[in-house]
Amino acid sequence: MPLARPLHEKFPPLSDAHRRGFGSLVFLLEGKLDDLRALLAPALPASRSDRRTAQEAPVQDGCAGLAAAPAVFPCKGCFTDFNLCTMPSLFAFLRWLLLTWLLLAAPSLVFAWGAWSHQRINRAAVLALPPALRTFFYNHADYITEEAVMPDVRKHAFHDKDEAARHFINLEAYNLPISQLPQTAADARTRFDAATLVQNGTLPWSIQEGLAHLTQAMKSGRKDEILFWAANLGHYFGDAQMPLHTSLNHDGQLTGQAGIHAFFEGQLPERFGSAYDFNVGEAAYLPDPVAETWRLLAASHASADTLLAVERQLQAAVPLADRYEQDARGAVRKNQFGDEFHAPAYAARYHQALGRLVERRLRAAVRSTADFWYTAWVNAGQPDLNRLDSDYTTHSIQRNLKYELGLLKRGRLVDLKTNPEF
Ligand SMILES: [Zn+2]
Ligand SMILES: [Zn+2]
Repeated sequence: MPLARPLHEKFPPLSDAHRRGFGSLVFLLEGKLDDLRALLAPALPASRSDRRTAQEAPVQDGCAGLAAAPAVFPCKGCFTDFNLCTMPSLFAFLRWLLLTWLLLAAPSLVFAWGAWSHQRINRAAVLALPPALRTFFYNHADYITEEAVMPDVRKHAFHDKDEAARHFINLEAYNLPISQLPQTAADARTRFDAATLVQNGTLPWSIQEGLAHLTQAMKSGRKDEILFWAANLGHYFGDAQMPLHTSLNHDGQLTGQAGIHAFFEGQLPERFGSAYDFNVGEAAYLPDPVAETWRLLAASHASADTLLAVERQLQAAVPLADRYEQDARGAVRKNQFGDEFHAPAYAARYHQALGRLVERRLRAAVRSTADFWYTAWVNAGQPDLNRLDSDYTTHSIQRNLKYELGLLKRGRLVDLKTNPEF
C-alpha cells in the first residue's frame, strides 16, 4: 500500500519553465491553466511531456538565458536570482502574476509554526551552511524563504489529503515505542495500510523521502528540484520540531487546552521571536539520517508534555477572563484562522514560564534543516552547485550575504516583513 502518495508522484520534477518561485503551486494550478495554455499555444511548449523534455536540456544560467528566451521585462539590476528576465514566455509571466495574487490573497491559508517561524527557519538554515554549499543556497535564499510555507498552502488551500499527513505524526496513535516503529518509509508501507498512515501521520517517513529526493536532485544537478526539495524539507523539519505535531493531543483538545497549538507556535514567536538567537553554528554531516530523524522527533515529542503542563499551571493561576484579548463587543478576539488572541500579559507569563522552549524548538528546526541539507549534498558527492548559477548572480549577492552573516553573529536575521497572523 502506498505511503499516502509519494511526493514526487504528486509533484513531479520541476521543469525549466518553473525556475523561479512558487513551484509547488504551479503544479497544482497547471490543470486550471490548460485553457489559458491553449489560447497562448504558439508561445508555449505543447504539453507537460514537452516540458519534461525541455528539462533535460542544459539549464540556462540566470540572465544568461535572456538572449534565447524573450524577456517580459528588461533584466537590469538582477539582484538575487529571482528576476523576471528568466521567465521564458508571456504565459510564464501570466502564471507568475496569478500565483503572486494567490499568495497575497491567501495569507489565512498558512498554518503550522506560522509563516513567521517557517520563513525564519529556512532563512537561518541557509546561513548555517558551510561556505561551500552556502553560496548556492544563498543565491536562492529568497525563494527558499518564501517556499517555506508552501506545504501548508498545499494542505489548506487545496485540501490535498496526501499533503496533510506529511506534517505530523501522532506517535501515541501508533501505540508503539519509537524504537519499535518502522524506521524507514519502506518499512512503514509494509507495516501499515495507507488509511492508517494518512490518519496517524507520516512526518518522519516523508522527511526521509524528501532527503532522498534532495540527494538525487543534487547528484543530477537539477536546480529546480534541489530548491523545491530543500525548501519543502525545511518546512517539515519545522513541523517535526514543534512538539504538538508529534502528538495526538495536537491542539490540547484532550487536556482542556484547545487553542494552545496556535498560541505556542504562532502568537509566542511572533510576539517574542525578534529577540531569539538564530545563530545555531555550522551545519554538520549526519552519518545516519534515519536514526537522526527519530532522535529529533523523540526530543521534540518529549517537550509536548512540558508545554502543556506549564500552561495548565498558568490556567489555574489566571482567571479565564484574563487569558484572552477581547474585541470592542467584549467577545474573545480571533485572527483569520479563528485562533484566539491570548492577552499580552498572559502570553508574556506563558513565554516566561516556558523558559525559552519556543526559541529552543525553533533553533533545533534550523539546525536539523541545515544538517540534512548538508548531508544530502555530501551524500550526493559534494557536487559544485555554483555552476548552476551565473557568476553574475553569485558575485552580485555577496554584499548581502556579508550583511546577513554580520547580523547572524548577533543572532539576528534580516527583517522578512512576514504578514502577522496575531
Ligand atoms: Zn502547527
Ligand atoms: Zn506544516
